[in-house]
Amino acid sequence: MRILPPDADGLMEAAMILRRGGIGIVPTETVYGLACDATSAIGVASIYRAKGRPADNPLIHHAANIDMVQQIADCSHPAVESLAESFWPGPLTLILPARPSVLPEAIAGGSTVAVRIPAHPMMRHLISLTFKPLAAPSANLSGQLSPTSLEQIDPKLAEQVEFAIDGGPCSVGIESTILDLTGEVPMVVRTGHVTPARLRALLGGQIEVRRHDEGGTPGSYARHYAPRTPLFLTDTLGDLPGIGFQKPRHANQIRLPKKPEAYAEGLYRALFSADCWGLDRLSIERPPRTPAWMAIWDRLERAVTKASDLE
Ligand code: AMP
Ligand code: MG
Repeated sequence: MRILPPDADGLMEAAMILRRGGIGIVPTETVYGLACDATSAIGVASIYRAKGRPADNPLIHHAANIDMVQQIADCSHPAVESLAESFWPGPLTLILPARPSVLPEAIAGGSTVAVRIPAHPMMRHLISLTFKPLAAPSANLSGQLSPTSLEQIDPKLAEQVEFAIDGGPCSVGIESTILDLTGEVPMVVRTGHVTPARLRALLGGQIEVRRHDEGGTPGSYARHYAPRTPLFLTDTLGDLPGIGFQKPRHANQIRLPKKPEAYAEGLYRALFSADCWGLDRLSIERPPRTPAWMAIWDRLERAVTKASDLE
C-alpha cells in the first residue's frame, strides 16, 4: 500500500488506480472507506475479497453530486429532494430503487441501491476525478472496528490495497444514518449522526426506526462494532483528564466528551486505542438514554461485554 499525498496529484493517481479496477483506502467524514469503482466487477470483487465481506451484504455507493445519484438510483420518491437539500453532502445514506446499470454484485443481486454524497471534500474530489460512483464500505476486515484515522488500518487489509489517502481524523466518527425509502413508510435501518428527530422534522412525522436486533439487514450482525478488549460502561470515571489518547495512567478508563457528536467522534478511537495498548478491560462513560444518543447506544449495544451495562 502506497500513501498518496492528499493533493491534486495524489487524488489524480488514486482516480487512475480506481478506474482500472484497483482498490484503496479513502477518507470520508464518517469512517475511512475501502473504495473501488462501483461499476467495476473486478474492483467490487476485490473489495469483498479484501474485507472478507459476505456477498449478501451490499455496498453503499458514493456520488459526487445529484446528477451522479440519479444515474444510479430512481429518485422519484417525493422525499428525496428535500432530504438531499438538507443533508447532502453529509452522513445520510438513502436506499432507493436501483437503475438497471448498477452492477448486481455491488448490491447483492437486489433491486435497491444505497447511495449518499459524502461531505469529506477529498472524497468528493476523488469521485469527480474518477467519473464513477465509488463503493466504499468501512476500511476494516469484516467484523472488526471501523477505522476513524489511517493509523487504525489493519496491516492485513493494507497489504491487499494499492493506496491510501490520509484525510485526517474523521469528523463524524460513526457510520452514516441509513434511511430506506423503498417501503411504504420511510424507515431508518441504521442510526447515525442524522437523527430520526431531524428526519421527522423534515418529512413531517412519518418515519419508523428499525432496531438493529430486529435484523433484516446484513449489516445488523450482533457483535458488529465490538473491540477485542472487554468493554464496560460506568457512571463514575473519577477525576480523569479529557480524551487524550495517551495510554491512560488511571487504569483502563477513557473519558469521552459529554455531547453526542463529540462522543461519537471519539468512540471508535477509544475502542481502537484499548485494543492497541492491550488493555485487559476498558471502561467508558455511560451516556444518557435520550433520543440524541440513539446512534451511540446502537453501537454500544453491540460492543459492551456485559448485557446488564445496557440497562
Ligand atoms: P457499510 O457496511 O457501512 O458499508 O453499510 C452497508 C449497509 O448498508 C448494509 O449492511 C445494508 O444494511 C445497507 N445497504 C447497502 N446497500 C444496500 C442496498 N442495496 N439495499 C439495502 N440496503 C443496503
Ligand atoms: Mg462496516
